[in-house]
Amino acid sequence: MKLDILGCSGSLAAPGNPASGYLLHSAGHRPVIMDFGPGCLAALQQVADPSTAHVVFSHLHADHCMDFPSLLVWRRYHPQQPATARNTLIAPGFAPDRLGRLSADEPDGVDDFSDTFDFSPWIPAVSQRVGGLTITPRPAVHPTEAYCLRVEEQSTGKVLAYSGDTDYTRNCVAAARGADVFLCEATWGASSEGKVADMHVSGREAGIMAREAGVKHLLLVHIPPWVDPGEAKTAAEKQFPGPVTLAVPGMSLTV
Ligand SMILES: [Zn+2]
Ligand SMILES: [Zn+2]
Repeated sequence: MKLDILGCSGSLAAPGNPASGYLLHSAGHRPVIMDFGPGCLAALQQVADPSTAHVVFSHLHADHCMDFPSLLVWRRYHPQQPATARNTLIAPGFAPDRLGRLSADEPDGVDDFSDTFDFSPWIPAVSQRVGGLTITPRPAVHPTEAYCLRVEEQSTGKVLAYSGDTDYTRNCVAAARGADVFLCEATWGASSEGKVADMHVSGREAGIMAREAGVKHLLLVHIPPWVDPGEAKTAAEKQFPGPVTLAVPGMSLTV
């Protein structure tokens, strides 16, 4: 499975770095977008045909889904590359309403995008198959319905885990168990001391979850522009004995 980092800025986009967006590609299948924050559609155009991609959302905070209405415009109205199939969309159950409101014409309207996406809601711990991948959601600790995602490539058995946005939780450790690559947020930087509870982790807790899950490689993501990424990495390295990498936009790696 190939992973492209479309953007990995946390909580909002940063200069040259869109907010949360990852592209997964299993050979012989359509690619799968995993979260799609502000700026990600521009980055996606550089690595894949946006018309072809399935979409999964860990949750529906603005920094993880705000380029979805633009993706609908591309799929419906691109003169040379219109979408030719209803691609899969998997997200929290209220997604058709929440995302439909983002691209409605009327103030109280809800755009029915079932012409272009076939929606199915996450059910905790129930796996769904998309684009050659099997994805299992486990509930995160976050102010809105949110999931930690375990992504297994069907052809190779390789595993990528993604924390989404979450405070420390055993569910995230379970999702990441033995993963080849663990994309974990580190919003709070070096430490969560004095930060809002039940929302995010620091590099320290990312390292603890990586160690407890026994992952092979920790990739830190979702670091806001006001946080020193080096401090988040150092905090993670004190807890996790394996390799720790700071994700950067445009990074591509084979899992
Ligand atoms: Zn976020
Ligand atoms: Zn969030």
